[in-house]
Amino acid sequence: MSDDIRNNPPEAGLAERAAETRSRIEEKVRKQFAIPIDEATPEQVYEAVGLCVRDDIMDSWITWRTSTQRSGAKCVIYLSAEFLIGRLLTNNLINLGKYECYEMALRELGYDMATIEEVESDPALGNGGLGRLAACFMDSLATLGLPSMGYGIRYEYGFFRQEIRDGRQVEIPDNWAFGGAVWETARTDRTYEVRFGGTVEENWNSDGNLRVEYRDYQSVIAKPYDMPVVGYRSPYTGTLRLWSAVAPKQLDLVQFNRGDYESASADRELAESISKVLYPEDSHPRGKELRLRQQYFLVSATMQQIVDSHRRRNGDLRKLPDAVVVQINDTHPTLAIPELIRILIDNEGFSWEEAVEIAERTFNYTNHTLLPEALECWPAPLMRSLLPRIYRIIETIDARLRDRIWQTNPGDADLISRLAIIHDGKVRMANLCVLMSTKVNGVSQLHGKLLKTRLFRDFYVTQPEKFLGITNGITQRRWLAVANPRLNSLINDTIGEGFMRDWTKLEELVPYAEDASFRQKFDEVKRENKRDFATWLERTHGISIDPESFMDVQAKRLHEYKRQLLKAVHILSIYDGLVSGRITDMPKVSFVFAAKAAPGYVRAKDTIRLINAISRLVAGNERTRDAMSVVFVPNYDVSTAQVLMPATDLSEQISTAGFEASGTGNMKFMLNGALTIGTMDGANIEMAEEVGEENMFIFGARVEEIDRMKADHSYRPREVAQADGRLQKALEHLVDGSLPTSDNSRFEDLYHSLMDSDPYFALYDFDAYDKAFWEALRVYGDRDEWLRRAVLNTARSGYFSSDRTINEYNEAVWHLTPIDDAARFDEA
Ligand SMILES: *Cc1c(COP(=O)(O)O)cnc(C)c1O
Repeated sequence: MSDDIRNNPPEAGLAERAAETRSRIEEKVRKQFAIPIDEATPEQVYEAVGLCVRDDIMDSWITWRTSTQRSGAKCVIYLSAEFLIGRLLTNNLINLGKYECYEMALRELGYDMATIEEVESDPALGNGGLGRLAACFMDSLATLGLPSMGYGIRYEYGFFRQEIRDGRQVEIPDNWAFGGAVWETARTDRTYEVRFGGTVEENWNSDGNLRVEYRDYQSVIAKPYDMPVVGYRSPYTGTLRLWSAVAPKQLDLVQFNRGDYESASADRELAESISKVLYPEDSHPRGKELRLRQQYFLVSATMQQIVDSHRRRNGDLRKLPDAVVVQINDTHPTLAIPELIRILIDNEGFSWEEAVEIAERTFNYTNHTLLPEALECWPAPLMRSLLPRIYRIIETIDARLRDRIWQTNPGDADLISRLAIIHDGKVRMANLCVLMSTKVNGVSQLHGKLLKTRLFRDFYVTQPEKFLGITNGITQRRWLAVANPRLNSLINDTIGEGFMRDWTKLEELVPYAEDASFRQKFDEVKRENKRDFATWLERTHGISIDPESFMDVQAKRLHEYKRQLLKAVHILSIYDGLVSGRITDMPKVSFVFAAKAAPGYVRAKDTIRLINAISRLVAGNERTRDAMSVVFVPNYDVSTAQVLMPATDLSEQISTAGFEASGTGNMKFMLNGALTIGTMDGANIEMAEEVGEENMFIFGARVEEIDRMKADHSYRPREVAQADGRLQKALEHLVDGSLPTSDNSRFEDLYHSLMDSDPYFALYDFDAYDKAFWEALRVYGDRDEWLRRAVLNTARSGYFSSDRTINEYNEAVWHLTPIDDAARFDEA
């Protein structure tokens, strides 16, 4: 990759600054590793460079903290079990405006930036979209100068590394910490104790105060690691605080003296296991006890710290909601709500009413799913024994809610059973969130609307003002400047770099869609990106791909609703068409998939096996292998997305309408100039509004149609298959033994899931998909038309900047003052 194109116009003094940076790097290597630079490995150089960049960040980081504190500006707390941050070196350098300088310094030392960048591990502290959204939000918050802190868990093992062996997914533990450690600062001075289990006794004092006593509980110490979040050319720096679980210093002496060594050390192990692994579940909570421990660990440490620092700074906890607003990212951090109530009552002496009122004004909740099975529920007995005090508080909230409904809707037991927090032996986290939050938002317009009419309808009826839809976004810093330096500098050269801070400026590119010489350059960028991707794929995974082919990409978590299976079956129909001679003139297509499946999700893993079998089938037939290829890119993560998206021609966003809450992958592809083939689902709908439906390939059943078929049970997938010869034949491959697998196994379960129930309407949409796909290839054949649309997609993608999203959250929910203004108010 040629790196000079990432650079700003050359400035006076660059050479001097690079020389100074070079000697700082040399010095760091000497001090850190006790060797001269010419003996350093790329790993050592990376670490030294990272530490130098960190030094560059420190001053502004300290300024940020002190100015936020001094001004008493309101701060948003972004609480999330996942932060999928990706590699930080390039991102931080670009945001600092120092990429060019470091790049030159490294070149003088005999290293190219790409080698050093790749040393850094990609901290996979998230599953997919939800975790990546949190990371994009942190970038936008820092860039916009909004006082903010992210709080999460420092998982020792992030999301598993995926390898493909014999066509199947194999999960390898991912110990990410090595390279990431450069960016962290352990704050041993800010630890908190989190308590599990034991018993709770509530006593009323003679003076009428409640005294709550905890006994026989297990202690875990939460130790924070802080990472700076560098905003783009922003003088201020935000903070991501990740908690790590450690056992308390002393062994439990009582146990130890009783000779109960085993259980004493078991306690230690249990304590440390809390931040050991990220659960690899996405939209499929599995109700594991350790997961509940993780959730409480995160929120207890966070809320204790927030209360603590507010008390120290402000003194009056009644004013907490004026100083902090907490955004709960999905239901995973829900227990923050009863935890705050617990702290206020048990530690600070507040009454129930006061504590609840403060909590209700502090929290807001973002929902991320429409799948009912993805709504978190915890067995009540588990919660009662693991978190006795928290469970008592939830019971009280629930009892008061039931009383209230009984008064407003006497006799409506059904309504109570729908709204209740504890129901049927389960604690429903979403109900608790909705009840106790100031605002509840969906993540696209459609999703916001569906929350009101489906999932939370009963809540909506009584409190319509609570509900919002705020469409997700992505940061153009990572997804364009870092991921696609060529396109970024082409845009810089054309309209200037203002769009990096002001997303509305990207629209200035619209007229260039009609400019043939601009289209030519746009095309050349895509071609070079494809070559880079092919080189990367060969080097990293030993897989070859034709960089001249049409790149048709579906990259996202593997889930039935996302319908990788529809795509796979469609590829089989193309295979059949090429073999039979029905299809003759098709440009060469590379069908690229990248997706991790949850380890326990059998059907998802089977779909990966199917895709790899199709890949072998196609490669093994001389009538198909030169016309198309099917490539499964292992281990989809942020770094993979960064090389894949800039190289993509066609973006597959084909979820069943009404199931994808928003999607953010769709936005990244759009920004990078891919055209989208997609259903009217999630944010695709708004993409169509921005760029025009005529510049996308929209197909398939709309939400209303899907809803109707679900309601009247009229859908008969087998009949759909039987009525379409191509579909029928494509499906037969799953069971007739024609697909090559290492153990001769077939795909009966997938076949029957489609033929007998097809809950995600893949066969229903097959024909519409087929038409849209061939239309896409037709347009691709018209180079000028394709490029015109591609340019328009990039030019109209500004709306999907997470800066816009964050501004909307701020206006509707948080009401923060940007730090520049806050600092000025302070001086006034
Ligand atoms: C953006 C992103 C996702 C989300 O993709 P969707 O298509 O919105 O599901 C998942 N994983 C990674 C690594 C991403 O960068």
